[in-house]
Amino acid sequence: MQPEGSMMIGVLALQGAFASHQQRLTELGALTRQVRTPRDLAGVDALVMPGGESTTMSRLLTTSELFDPLGERIAGGMPVFGTCAGMILLATEVLEGRPDQRSYGAIDITVQRNGYGRQLDSFETDLVVPELGPDATPFHGVFIRAPRVTRVGEGVEILAHHHGEPVLLRQGTVSVASFHPELAGDHRLHALFLNSFSNSITSSITTQSENL
Ligand code: GLN
Repeated sequence: MQPEGSMMIGVLALQGAFASHQQRLTELGALTRQVRTPRDLAGVDALVMPGGESTTMSRLLTTSELFDPLGERIAGGMPVFGTCAGMILLATEVLEGRPDQRSYGAIDITVQRNGYGRQLDSFETDLVVPELGPDATPFHGVFIRAPRVTRVGEGVEILAHHHGEPVLLRQGTVSVASFHPELAGDHRLHALFLNSFSNSITSSITTQSENL
């Protein structure tokens, strides 16, 4: 059952791990839509930008003619949640990107692509996220060739660290995670994102989360 009056949550579906994001959001009772064209984008109130390959996504954003309309929506305050490659696309500065790779500069951070190096190419770890509440259990972070945050600008909130380095951040309506929250079987970060802009579905999400 969909909560009455809820907003349409888009999931950028050009490439990457969009299906699991959509599943997590749907399980929370959100209305969702896959976004591949400017027309799809026009129908959504918020957007999740998934993990995958940021260089490929950057190219597909251009060829699909989504790049500029999406930039306008983000600049206009549409809430976005970028994970892994999605985080890279939202960052101000990208280190070790391809020369033709584009990013939105929507959150004032510098990220280093694949910044955890070969030894830690992919890893999983429990993250303390105080924003989830004083008694919240840690969130299981799945890192896959994850970007490393090497600079955080003023006005950017750090919501979680791993070994002293930021891995979950927020600036205004833009949230980013260097890991894959959609793969942990845990809905809390998706709920946090939805609740940050939609009071109308807060109670529904809280109730449903308890039953998951
Ligand atoms: N390393 C990828 C990139 O540069 C991101 C990996 C991911 O999204 N899991 O885009």
